Amino acid sequence: MKYELIKLPYELNALEPVMSAETLEYHHGKHLQGYVNNLNALIEGTEYADMPLEEIVAKSEGGLFNNAGQVLNHNLYFTQFAPNSGGVPKGKLLSAIEAKWGSFDKFKEEFTQACLTLFGSGWAWLASDKDGKLQVCKEANGGNPVVHGLKPLLGVDVWEHAYYIDYRNSRPNHVKALWDIINWEVVEQRY
Ligand code: MN
Repeated sequence: MKYELIKLPYELNALEPVMSAETLEYHHGKHLQGYVNNLNALIEGTEYADMPLEEIVAKSEGGLFNNAGQVLNHNLYFTQFAPNSGGVPKGKLLSAIEAKWGSFDKFKEEFTQACLTLFGSGWAWLASDKDGKLQVCKEANGGNPVVHGLKPLLGVDVWEHAYYIDYRNSRPNHVKALWDIINWEVVEQRY
């Protein structure tokens, strides 16, 4: 089975000014396409060829893990945004956040801190265990919470390619702006 580049559920310029069309053109059209091409080349004719992506990520290592992880990560990432969104989650996801952190603002603080203290390239995740308990995970490079048996709900890409065009070196300004385009309905559905 060949993996395909996911289609964005919005126009290239729909997330401006938080995320520019140029960033999406490169990040989705070139970086993610590169990971998809590498993944397809690496699984062809192997035991991984017909395996679901999450399973490849959980079972592989080295180059295959890096590329499969990055395809999974970016598929979750690009589909969790929408124009004119943000705000706060609802329902049982909000209850679980309040149970863990006391308030949405406290969660936001810890999640932001994870994004800003991750050294080098990687991802910050909101993840859930099998009992629905939430945690924030920091993953280096192409890591994903599935490797710890957790379900990824919300992921922030802190590789420089995610923000360098729009925010240059300022990861803090990028992360601060991202909250305005998070589509919590999608995140709630993953929970
Ligand atoms: Mn990326």
